[in-house]
Amino acid sequence: MNKKSVRDVDLKGKRLLMRADFNVPIKDGVISDDKRIKATLPTIQYVLEQGAALVLMSHLGRPAGTGYEAEFSMKPVAERLEALLGKPVKFAPDCIGAEVEALAAALQPGEVLLLENVRFYKAETKNDPKISEQLAKLGELFVMDAFGTAHRAQSSTEGVAHYLPAVAGFLMEKEVEFLSKATEDVARPYVVILGGAKVSDKIAVIQNMLKLADKVLIGGGMANTFFKAQGLEMGDSLVEDGVLDTARALLAEAGDKLVLPVDGVIANAFDNDAHSKVVPVTAIEPGWRMLDIGPETIAKYADILKTAKTVAWNGPMGVFEMANFAKGTFAIAEALADLNAVTVIGGGDSASAVKKAGVAAKMSHVSTGGGASLEFLEGKVLPGVAALQDK
Ligand code: AMP
Repeated sequence: MNKKSVRDVDLKGKRLLMRADFNVPIKDGVISDDKRIKATLPTIQYVLEQGAALVLMSHLGRPAGTGYEAEFSMKPVAERLEALLGKPVKFAPDCIGAEVEALAAALQPGEVLLLENVRFYKAETKNDPKISEQLAKLGELFVMDAFGTAHRAQSSTEGVAHYLPAVAGFLMEKEVEFLSKATEDVARPYVVILGGAKVSDKIAVIQNMLKLADKVLIGGGMANTFFKAQGLEMGDSLVEDGVLDTARALLAEAGDKLVLPVDGVIANAFDNDAHSKVVPVTAIEPGWRMLDIGPETIAKYADILKTAKTVAWNGPMGVFEMANFAKGTFAIAEALADLNAVTVIGGGDSASAVKKAGVAAKMSHVSTGGGASLEFLEGKVLPGVAALQDK
Protein backbone atom coordinates (compact mmCIF):
# COMPACT_ATOMS: atom_id res chain seq x y z
CA MET A 1 0.00 0.00 0.00
CA ASN A 2 1.39 3.42 -0.89
CA LYS A 3 -0.32 5.03 2.11
CA LYS A 4 1.22 5.32 5.54
CA SER A 5 0.03 3.09 8.36
CA VAL A 6 0.58 3.14 12.11
CA ARG A 7 3.74 1.15 11.38
CA ASP A 8 5.27 4.07 9.51
CA VAL A 9 5.06 6.74 12.22
CA ASP A 10 6.53 7.27 15.68
CA LEU A 11 3.69 6.79 18.14
CA LYS A 12 5.52 7.10 21.46
CA GLY A 13 3.94 9.72 23.69
CA LYS A 14 1.48 10.76 20.96
CA ARG A 15 -2.25 11.16 21.45
CA LEU A 16 -4.06 9.38 18.62
CA LEU A 17 -7.59 9.94 17.41
CA MET A 18 -8.76 6.73 15.79
CA ARG A 19 -11.91 6.13 13.71
CA ALA A 20 -13.01 2.55 14.23
CA ASP A 21 -16.08 0.69 13.01
CA PHE A 22 -17.83 -0.26 16.24
CA ASN A 23 -21.23 -0.33 14.57
CA VAL A 24 -22.20 -3.57 16.33
CA PRO A 25 -25.71 -5.01 16.71
CA ILE A 26 -27.08 -3.95 20.12
CA LYS A 27 -30.47 -4.69 21.63
CA ASP A 28 -31.47 -3.36 25.06
CA GLY A 29 -27.85 -2.51 25.75
CA VAL A 30 -26.60 -6.03 24.94
CA ILE A 31 -24.12 -6.57 22.08
CA SER A 32 -25.06 -9.73 20.15
CA ASP A 33 -21.97 -9.85 17.93
CA ASP A 34 -18.67 -8.17 18.82
CA LYS A 35 -16.62 -9.21 15.78
CA ARG A 36 -16.20 -5.62 14.63
CA ILE A 37 -14.70 -4.68 18.01
CA LYS A 38 -12.42 -7.73 17.91
CA ALA A 39 -11.33 -6.87 14.36
CA THR A 40 -9.92 -3.55 15.59
CA LEU A 41 -8.02 -5.01 18.58
CA PRO A 42 -4.73 -5.59 16.69
CA THR A 43 -4.45 -1.87 15.86
CA ILE A 44 -5.53 -0.79 19.35
CA GLN A 45 -3.10 -3.13 21.09
CA TYR A 46 -0.25 -2.15 18.78
CA VAL A 47 -0.59 1.61 19.29
CA LEU A 48 -0.89 1.20 23.07
CA GLU A 49 2.22 -1.00 23.14
CA GLN A 50 4.04 1.72 21.20
CA GLY A 51 3.29 4.16 24.02
CA ALA A 52 0.44 6.16 22.52
CA ALA A 53 -2.66 7.45 24.28
CA LEU A 54 -5.77 6.52 22.30
CA VAL A 55 -9.02 8.37 21.67
CA LEU A 56 -11.49 6.12 19.83
CA MET A 57 -14.57 7.18 17.88
CA SER A 58 -17.24 5.43 15.82
CA HIS A 59 -20.82 5.64 14.71
CA LEU A 60 -23.45 3.20 15.93
CA GLY A 61 -26.76 2.58 14.17
CA ARG A 62 -28.84 5.33 12.65
CA PRO A 63 -29.69 7.93 15.27
CA ALA A 64 -31.71 10.97 14.16
CA GLY A 65 -28.63 13.18 14.45
CA THR A 66 -30.30 15.63 16.79
CA GLY A 67 -28.45 14.73 19.99
CA TYR A 68 -28.13 11.94 22.53
CA GLU A 69 -30.34 8.85 22.16
CA ALA A 70 -29.81 6.10 24.76
CA GLU A 71 -30.56 3.38 22.21
CA PHE A 72 -27.52 4.40 20.14
CA SER A 73 -25.08 5.11 22.96
CA MET A 74 -21.54 3.71 22.61
CA LYS A 75 -21.46 2.92 26.36
CA PRO A 76 -21.98 -0.86 25.89
CA VAL A 77 -19.10 -0.81 23.39
CA ALA A 78 -16.82 0.80 26.00
CA GLU A 79 -17.69 -1.98 28.43
CA ARG A 80 -17.11 -4.77 25.89
CA LEU A 81 -13.86 -3.19 24.72
CA GLU A 82 -12.68 -2.98 28.31
CA ALA A 83 -13.35 -6.72 28.76
CA LEU A 84 -11.62 -7.62 25.48
CA LEU A 85 -8.60 -5.41 26.10
CA GLY A 86 -8.30 -6.32 29.77
CA LYS A 87 -7.71 -2.68 30.70
CA PRO A 88 -9.91 0.29 31.62
CA VAL A 89 -11.66 2.17 28.82
CA LYS A 90 -12.76 5.67 29.76
CA PHE A 91 -15.96 6.94 28.25
CA ALA A 92 -16.75 10.46 27.06
CA PRO A 93 -20.38 11.64 27.20
CA ASP A 94 -20.05 13.37 23.81
CA CYS A 95 -17.70 13.33 20.83
CA ILE A 96 -16.85 17.05 20.70
CA GLY A 97 -16.80 20.00 23.10
CA ALA A 98 -14.82 21.36 26.04
CA GLU A 99 -15.54 18.47 28.41
CA VAL A 100 -14.38 15.89 25.85
CA GLU A 101 -11.29 17.96 25.06
CA ALA A 102 -10.38 17.99 28.76
CA LEU A 103 -10.82 14.21 29.02
CA ALA A 104 -8.64 13.70 25.93
CA ALA A 105 -5.96 16.11 27.18
CA ALA A 106 -5.73 14.24 30.51
CA LEU A 107 -5.17 10.89 28.79
CA GLN A 108 -1.82 9.25 29.58
CA PRO A 109 0.22 6.95 27.32
CA GLY A 110 -1.37 3.49 27.29
CA GLU A 111 -4.81 4.85 28.24
CA VAL A 112 -7.97 4.59 26.13
CA LEU A 113 -10.94 6.93 25.82
CA LEU A 114 -14.02 6.06 23.76
CA LEU A 115 -16.16 8.94 22.52
CA GLU A 116 -19.95 8.93 22.32
CA ASN A 117 -21.60 8.20 18.94
CA VAL A 118 -20.37 10.64 16.27
CA ARG A 119 -23.72 10.41 14.49
CA PHE A 120 -25.48 12.20 17.32
CA TYR A 121 -24.52 15.16 15.12
CA LYS A 122 -26.15 15.11 11.69
CA ALA A 123 -23.46 17.52 10.47
CA GLU A 124 -20.89 14.75 10.95
CA THR A 125 -22.35 12.76 8.05
CA LYS A 126 -22.28 15.93 5.92
CA ASN A 127 -18.52 16.23 6.49
CA ASP A 128 -19.07 19.59 8.18
CA PRO A 129 -15.62 21.19 8.72
CA LYS A 130 -16.82 22.64 12.04
CA ILE A 131 -17.20 19.10 13.41
CA SER A 132 -13.98 17.90 11.76
CA GLU A 133 -12.03 20.73 13.34
CA GLN A 134 -13.42 20.02 16.78
CA LEU A 135 -12.69 16.30 16.48
CA ALA A 136 -9.14 17.11 15.41
CA LYS A 137 -8.55 18.90 18.73
CA LEU A 138 -8.73 15.50 20.46
CA GLY A 139 -5.51 14.06 19.01
CA GLU A 140 -2.20 14.80 17.33
CA LEU A 141 -2.48 12.08 14.69
CA PHE A 142 -5.54 10.56 13.00
CA VAL A 143 -5.72 6.79 12.53
CA MET A 144 -8.36 5.53 10.11
CA ASP A 145 -9.31 1.90 10.72
CA ALA A 146 -12.98 1.92 9.68
CA PHE A 147 -12.85 0.55 6.14
CA GLY A 148 -16.63 -0.01 6.07
CA THR A 149 -17.19 3.77 6.13
CA ALA A 150 -14.15 4.77 4.03
CA HIS A 151 -16.35 5.30 0.94
CA ARG A 152 -18.18 8.09 2.73
CA ALA A 153 -16.57 11.48 3.19
CA GLN A 154 -17.72 12.38 6.69
CA SER A 155 -16.14 14.45 9.45
CA SER A 156 -14.91 11.38 11.35
CA THR A 157 -13.68 9.45 8.29
CA GLU A 158 -12.25 12.10 5.97
CA GLY A 159 -12.87 15.65 7.18
CA VAL A 160 -10.70 15.29 10.26
CA ALA A 161 -7.74 14.35 8.03
CA HIS A 162 -7.70 17.94 6.75
CA TYR A 163 -6.66 19.04 10.24
CA LEU A 164 -4.41 16.17 11.37
CA PRO A 165 -1.82 13.94 9.69
CA ALA A 166 -3.65 10.69 8.84
CA VAL A 167 -2.46 7.09 8.67
CA ALA A 168 -4.17 3.70 8.29
CA GLY A 169 -4.77 1.13 11.00
CA PHE A 170 -4.09 -2.55 10.31
CA LEU A 171 -7.65 -3.41 9.27
CA MET A 172 -7.73 -0.59 6.77
CA GLU A 173 -4.26 -1.48 5.54
CA LYS A 174 -5.24 -5.10 4.88
CA GLU A 175 -8.42 -4.08 3.02
CA VAL A 176 -6.56 -1.68 0.75
CA GLU A 177 -3.73 -4.15 0.17
CA PHE A 178 -6.03 -6.96 -0.98
CA LEU A 179 -8.57 -4.87 -2.86
CA SER A 180 -5.63 -3.29 -4.70
CA LYS A 181 -4.60 -6.78 -5.79
CA ALA A 182 -7.98 -6.94 -7.54
CA THR A 183 -7.73 -3.49 -9.12
CA GLU A 184 -4.04 -2.75 -9.85
CA ASP A 185 -1.30 -4.92 -11.35
CA VAL A 186 -3.51 -7.99 -11.04
CA ALA A 187 -2.08 -11.49 -11.45
CA ARG A 188 -3.73 -13.04 -14.52
CA PRO A 189 -5.94 -14.69 -15.54
CA TYR A 190 -8.22 -12.43 -13.51
CA VAL A 191 -11.81 -13.69 -13.14
CA VAL A 192 -14.52 -11.55 -11.57
CA ILE A 193 -17.81 -13.01 -10.38
CA LEU A 194 -20.73 -10.63 -10.05
CA GLY A 195 -24.15 -11.55 -8.74
CA GLY A 196 -26.90 -10.13 -6.58
CA ALA A 197 -30.29 -8.77 -7.36
CA LYS A 198 -29.84 -5.86 -9.71
CA VAL A 199 -27.79 -4.75 -12.68
CA SER A 200 -28.53 -1.11 -11.86
CA ASP A 201 -26.50 -1.32 -8.61
CA LYS A 202 -23.51 -2.81 -10.39
CA ILE A 203 -23.23 -1.04 -13.74
CA ALA A 204 -20.10 0.86 -12.66
CA VAL A 205 -18.39 -2.28 -11.36
CA ILE A 206 -19.26 -4.25 -14.51
CA GLN A 207 -17.85 -1.45 -16.67
CA ASN A 208 -14.63 -1.23 -14.67
CA MET A 209 -14.17 -4.99 -14.56
CA LEU A 210 -14.75 -5.33 -18.32
CA LYS A 211 -11.64 -3.15 -18.61
CA LEU A 212 -9.62 -4.93 -15.93
CA ALA A 213 -10.60 -8.58 -15.87
CA ASP A 214 -10.13 -11.42 -18.35
CA LYS A 215 -13.59 -12.87 -17.64
CA VAL A 216 -16.65 -11.52 -15.84
CA LEU A 217 -19.01 -14.30 -14.72
CA ILE A 218 -22.57 -13.18 -14.06
CA GLY A 219 -25.07 -14.81 -11.71
CA GLY A 220 -28.03 -13.94 -9.51
CA GLY A 221 -31.04 -11.87 -10.48
CA MET A 222 -28.72 -9.63 -12.46
CA ALA A 223 -28.39 -12.30 -15.15
CA ASN A 224 -32.14 -12.16 -15.81
CA THR A 225 -31.96 -8.58 -17.03
CA PHE A 226 -29.19 -9.51 -19.48
CA PHE A 227 -31.28 -12.43 -20.76
CA LYS A 228 -34.36 -10.27 -21.22
CA ALA A 229 -32.16 -7.76 -23.07
CA GLN A 230 -31.25 -10.61 -25.43
CA GLY A 231 -34.93 -11.32 -25.99
CA LEU A 232 -35.33 -14.44 -23.83
CA GLU A 233 -38.58 -15.26 -22.00
CA MET A 234 -37.95 -14.67 -18.28
CA GLY A 235 -41.41 -15.52 -16.90
CA ASP A 236 -41.85 -13.97 -13.46
CA SER A 237 -38.09 -13.63 -12.85
CA LEU A 238 -36.78 -10.44 -11.29
CA VAL A 239 -35.99 -8.21 -14.28
CA GLU A 240 -35.11 -4.53 -14.36
CA ASP A 241 -36.95 -3.28 -17.42
CA GLY A 242 -35.53 0.21 -16.92
CA VAL A 243 -31.95 -0.84 -17.70
CA LEU A 244 -32.47 -3.16 -20.67
CA ASP A 245 -30.74 -0.72 -23.03
CA THR A 246 -27.79 -0.43 -20.65
CA ALA A 247 -27.63 -4.23 -20.43
CA ARG A 248 -27.64 -4.46 -24.24
CA ALA A 249 -24.84 -1.90 -24.46
CA LEU A 250 -22.77 -3.78 -21.86
CA LEU A 251 -23.27 -7.06 -23.74
CA ALA A 252 -22.19 -5.46 -27.01
CA GLU A 253 -19.13 -3.87 -25.39
CA ALA A 254 -18.13 -7.03 -23.53
CA GLY A 255 -18.04 -9.60 -26.32
CA ASP A 256 -17.13 -12.99 -24.88
CA LYS A 257 -15.61 -11.45 -21.75
CA LEU A 258 -19.01 -11.38 -20.06
CA VAL A 259 -20.19 -14.92 -19.33
CA LEU A 260 -23.86 -15.60 -18.56
CA PRO A 261 -25.42 -18.71 -17.00
CA VAL A 262 -26.45 -21.52 -19.35
CA ASP A 263 -29.01 -23.08 -17.01
CA GLY A 264 -30.89 -22.14 -13.89
CA VAL A 265 -33.11 -23.37 -11.10
CA ILE A 266 -36.60 -22.02 -11.70
CA ALA A 267 -39.52 -22.07 -9.27
CA ASN A 268 -43.24 -21.45 -9.58
CA ALA A 269 -43.24 -19.12 -6.55
CA PHE A 270 -40.74 -17.02 -4.57
CA ASP A 271 -40.69 -19.57 -1.79
CA ASN A 272 -38.18 -22.14 -0.57
CA ASP A 273 -40.85 -24.85 -0.80
CA ALA A 274 -42.13 -23.91 -4.25
CA HIS A 275 -41.97 -26.42 -7.10
CA SER A 276 -38.58 -26.09 -8.71
CA LYS A 277 -36.67 -27.57 -11.63
CA VAL A 278 -33.47 -27.13 -13.57
CA VAL A 279 -33.86 -25.82 -17.12
CA PRO A 280 -31.69 -24.22 -19.80
CA VAL A 281 -31.97 -20.43 -19.67
CA THR A 282 -33.76 -20.61 -23.01
CA ALA A 283 -36.62 -22.66 -21.53
CA ILE A 284 -38.04 -20.45 -18.77
CA GLU A 285 -41.81 -20.62 -18.86
CA PRO A 286 -44.37 -17.94 -18.02
CA GLY A 287 -45.31 -18.14 -14.32
CA TRP A 288 -41.83 -19.40 -13.33
CA ARG A 289 -38.85 -17.46 -12.06
CA MET A 290 -35.12 -18.06 -12.06
CA LEU A 291 -33.79 -18.22 -8.49
CA ASP A 292 -30.36 -19.85 -8.82
CA ILE A 293 -27.75 -20.84 -11.38
CA GLY A 294 -27.93 -24.49 -12.47
CA PRO A 295 -25.43 -27.38 -12.37
CA GLU A 296 -24.10 -26.83 -15.90
CA THR A 297 -23.38 -23.22 -15.10
CA ILE A 298 -21.66 -24.21 -11.86
CA ALA A 299 -19.44 -26.65 -13.79
CA LYS A 300 -18.72 -24.08 -16.50
CA TYR A 301 -17.83 -21.34 -13.99
CA ALA A 302 -15.70 -23.73 -11.89
CA ASP A 303 -13.81 -24.65 -15.07
CA ILE A 304 -13.12 -21.00 -15.95
CA LEU A 305 -12.02 -20.37 -12.35
CA LYS A 306 -9.59 -23.31 -12.31
CA THR A 307 -6.77 -21.43 -14.03
CA ALA A 308 -7.43 -18.03 -12.41
CA LYS A 309 -4.62 -16.34 -10.53
CA THR A 310 -6.87 -13.59 -9.15
CA VAL A 311 -10.58 -13.77 -8.37
CA ALA A 312 -12.89 -11.07 -7.02
CA TRP A 313 -16.45 -11.92 -6.06
CA ASN A 314 -19.38 -9.64 -5.27
CA GLY A 315 -23.00 -10.77 -4.98
CA PRO A 316 -24.71 -14.16 -4.58
CA MET A 317 -25.52 -16.44 -7.52
CA GLY A 318 -29.10 -16.93 -6.40
CA VAL A 319 -31.54 -16.39 -3.56
CA PHE A 320 -29.08 -17.98 -1.16
CA GLU A 321 -31.17 -17.05 1.88
CA MET A 322 -33.44 -19.97 0.85
CA ALA A 323 -31.73 -23.37 1.16
CA ASN A 324 -33.19 -24.70 -2.08
CA PHE A 325 -31.71 -21.82 -4.08
CA ALA A 326 -28.36 -21.55 -2.31
CA LYS A 327 -26.51 -24.34 -4.13
CA GLY A 328 -25.03 -22.13 -6.85
CA THR A 329 -23.67 -19.59 -4.36
CA PHE A 330 -22.18 -22.26 -2.10
CA ALA A 331 -20.71 -24.16 -5.07
CA ILE A 332 -18.91 -21.01 -6.21
CA ALA A 333 -17.65 -20.45 -2.64
CA GLU A 334 -16.29 -24.00 -2.59
CA ALA A 335 -14.74 -23.64 -6.04
CA LEU A 336 -12.86 -20.56 -4.81
CA ALA A 337 -11.68 -22.38 -1.68
CA ASP A 338 -9.79 -24.91 -3.83
CA LEU A 339 -7.95 -22.34 -5.96
CA ASN A 340 -4.30 -21.45 -5.85
CA ALA A 341 -5.11 -17.78 -6.47
CA VAL A 342 -5.63 -14.47 -4.74
CA THR A 343 -9.32 -14.59 -3.78
CA VAL A 344 -10.95 -11.35 -2.71
CA ILE A 345 -14.52 -11.46 -1.44
CA GLY A 346 -16.60 -8.29 -1.30
CA GLY A 347 -18.39 -7.55 1.96
CA GLY A 348 -22.11 -8.04 2.55
CA ASP A 349 -23.83 -11.06 1.01
CA SER A 350 -20.75 -12.64 -0.58
CA ALA A 351 -18.88 -12.41 2.72
CA SER A 352 -21.78 -14.08 4.55
CA ALA A 353 -21.98 -16.74 1.79
CA VAL A 354 -18.35 -17.83 2.20
CA LYS A 355 -18.86 -17.89 5.97
CA LYS A 356 -22.05 -19.95 5.69
CA ALA A 357 -20.26 -22.32 3.29
CA GLY A 358 -17.53 -22.71 5.93
CA VAL A 359 -14.72 -21.61 3.58
CA ALA A 360 -14.05 -18.01 4.70
CA ALA A 361 -10.65 -18.98 6.14
CA LYS A 362 -9.60 -20.32 2.74
CA MET A 363 -10.06 -16.95 1.02
CA SER A 364 -7.15 -14.54 0.73
CA HIS A 365 -9.38 -11.74 1.95
CA VAL A 366 -13.00 -11.33 2.99
CA SER A 367 -13.80 -7.63 3.05
CA THR A 368 -15.53 -6.07 6.05
CA GLY A 369 -17.09 -3.34 3.91
CA GLY A 370 -19.96 -4.07 1.51
CA GLY A 371 -20.43 -0.63 -0.06
CA ALA A 372 -16.78 0.33 0.38
CA SER A 373 -15.43 -2.80 -1.34
CA LEU A 374 -17.90 -2.40 -4.23
CA GLU A 375 -16.79 1.20 -4.78
CA PHE A 376 -13.17 0.08 -4.66
CA LEU A 377 -13.88 -2.51 -7.38
CA GLU A 378 -15.65 0.21 -9.37
CA GLY A 379 -12.25 1.88 -9.52
CA LYS A 380 -13.25 4.81 -7.33
CA VAL A 381 -10.77 6.32 -4.94
CA LEU A 382 -12.40 6.07 -1.51
CA PRO A 383 -12.31 9.41 0.33
CA GLY A 384 -11.20 7.73 3.58
CA VAL A 385 -8.25 6.19 1.73
CA ALA A 386 -7.36 9.29 -0.30
CA ALA A 387 -7.13 11.28 2.95
CA LEU A 388 -4.27 9.16 4.28
CA GLN A 389 -0.68 10.34 3.97
CA ASP A 390 1.35 8.92 1.12
CA LYS A 391 4.38 6.84 2.02
P1 AMP B 1 -27.24 -7.43 -3.87
O1 AMP B 1 -27.52 -6.73 -2.60
O2 AMP B 1 -27.53 -6.64 -5.10
O3 AMP B 1 -25.86 -8.06 -3.90
O4 AMP B 1 -28.28 -8.61 -3.97
C1 AMP B 1 -28.35 -9.64 -3.02
C2 AMP B 1 -29.71 -10.24 -3.09
O5 AMP B 1 -29.95 -10.70 -4.40
C3 AMP B 1 -29.89 -11.40 -2.18
O6 AMP B 1 -30.79 -11.05 -1.18
C4 AMP B 1 -30.47 -12.49 -3.09
O7 AMP B 1 -31.57 -13.16 -2.53
C5 AMP B 1 -30.91 -11.71 -4.30
N1 AMP B 1 -30.94 -12.54 -5.50
C6 AMP B 1 -29.94 -13.27 -6.01
N2 AMP B 1 -30.34 -13.94 -7.08
C7 AMP B 1 -31.64 -13.66 -7.28
C8 AMP B 1 -32.62 -14.06 -8.24
N3 AMP B 1 -32.31 -14.91 -9.22
N4 AMP B 1 -33.86 -13.54 -8.13
C9 AMP B 1 -34.17 -12.68 -7.13
N5 AMP B 1 -33.28 -12.26 -6.20
C10 AMP B 1 -32.04 -12.75 -6.28
